[in-house]
Amino acid sequence: MSLVTSIRDLVQRGSVAVHRVVGDVGDERWLTRATLGAQDLAARADSSWADPRSLPVLEQFPERLRCLRSATDIETVDRSSGQTTLLLPLPSDTGVAGVVEVRTSAPLDEAVRRLLGGVLRIYRNVEGLLDYSERDTLTGLLNRKSFDETFYKASAAAAPLPAGTQANDRRQAAPAGFWLGVVDIDHFKQVNDRFGHLIGDEVLLLLSRIMRSCFRFYDQLYRFGGEEFVVLLRCTGEEDAQAALERFREAVRGYAFPQVDRITVSVGFTNVRHGDTPSAAVERADRSVYWAKNHGRDQVRCHAALVRDGLLEDEHKAGDIDLF
Ligand code: GH3
Ligand code: MG
Ligand code: MG
Repeated sequence: MSLVTSIRDLVQRGSVAVHRVVGDVGDERWLTRATLGAQDLAARADSSWADPRSLPVLEQFPERLRCLRSATDIETVDRSSGQTTLLLPLPSDTGVAGVVEVRTSAPLDEAVRRLLGGVLRIYRNVEGLLDYSERDTLTGLLNRKSFDETFYKASAAAAPLPAGTQANDRRQAAPAGFWLGVVDIDHFKQVNDRFGHLIGDEVLLLLSRIMRSCFRFYDQLYRFGGEEFVVLLRCTGEEDAQAALERFREAVRGYAFPQVDRITVSVGFTNVRHGDTPSAAVERADRSVYWAKNHGRDQVRCHAALVRDGLLEDEHKAGDIDLF
């Protein structure tokens, strides 16, 4: 948002947009992260949890694709109107993350072009610093530090329960929302003991890759330290969350880790409730992991389902009542 605002100030009369590449390799799409028209007061963006299938494929915008692949500026001028579109590669530490699109009524002069290049270099440095402070160095996943803020956004976005709703009705009361999953590797101590810490670390790295490939671009993936991983999922209901986490569990189970061969994970998950706190939600998911560990490991367990089935007590019921 601040990038498009600064660029529009620089070019004066013009519109600016930032389009990022998202989605799985081979099926990448354009997600418009921010757009600001010539007359707009505030920047807008596509919903960051847009269904990837609803977004345009890269080939739908061949000029943007050319800018992305060549990593160079591309300027096109409409002969009759003089309308100019300048596409600039959006830099990131891992290459080009997308394109910045600047539309003006006439081509930009050289001084403004140079300033634009400077703004993008500063942007890259700031992004690099943010990544450094928010990401885990071994796996590149988000770290615990950045979790709370994202979590509070998710819990504020969760629909409040209508007064008098019972814990058992939660699923029907909140059809779409965020789900929090905690992943713990089974018998990981044995991996370290048998193969050493370096191989153990390699397992953690490979597990993070499997995570990236299993979940959607808008799901947030964290390593909380040690061999504990956390997923903040956006999906429509308990069945969808269960299915996504089962897919991940199966993917881990089916992966041949170098030397170690097979490992499994236990997963516990819970819905993110309106006004929830990170510690309360993580604790519900943790208790479900603990249950899975005591009942054979290699499984995905939903906190609400365990409570419905009378296998766990919902310790936060009392807290919920206080809210009303
Ligand atoms: P369980 O199935 O009950 O989870 O058994 P576990 O052996 O995995 O037990 P637990 O989750 O309590 O053990 C965590 C172990 O993970 C302890 C430590 O040896 C290992 N570990 C924690 N952090 C790291 C790390 O950063 N690198 C490596 N290589 N090992 C780690
Ligand atoms: Mg553990
Ligand atoms: Mg473990």
